[in-house]
Amino acid sequence: MDRTNLNRQVLHADCDVGRTKVESAAGKLRALNPEITVVATCASIGAENAAALVGGADLIIDATDNFPVRYILNRAALGARVPLIHGAVRGFYGQATTIVPGRTACLECIFPVAPPAEGAIPVVGTTPGIIGLVQANEAIKYITGTGDLLLDRLLVWDGRAATMTTLTVERQGDCSACGDNRC
Ligand SMILES: [Zn+2]
Repeated sequence: MDRTNLNRQVLHADCDVGRTKVESAAGKLRALNPEITVVATCASIGAENAAALVGGADLIIDATDNFPVRYILNRAALGARVPLIHGAVRGFYGQATTIVPGRTACLECIFPVAPPAEGAIPVVGTTPGIIGLVQANEAIKYITGTGDLLLDRLLVWDGRAATMTTLTVERQGDCSACGDNRC
């Protein structure tokens, strides 16, 4: 873990610099609640291991930082028919949606083409906090069957304007991940 992560990643502290993130995060979660079981896996998500990493999960929360990996996770979720709670941040901006395979738009329905990669993307520390809590709120609602999930809705947070809006999104019949002619 790098010191530059500390402005936005509350599970880690200065004393964790140099440890792996999964090691640091697992330790903090166990300290927070000794009753829970944390299984930490240190691996890069790729097309070759995504299905195995997702296997057996009830829910997937996308806390990754790039679209190529998000697309792999989206397809693994579709393949395993496990809901995926997507979140992404950039600067003052963030977004979130909940994807239920076979029922809602998937990530590639909403973003058939990834936004251009521009190297290191600066993130204001508050943005992942806000989007992360929206994702956690979605997870609680999904697990407990409470409230209205962000199904076919993309929540968009603009921290500069301090506005939060939801856009309606639709499943696309020609989606290459979940459409009729998926590949
Ligand atoms: Zn799709």
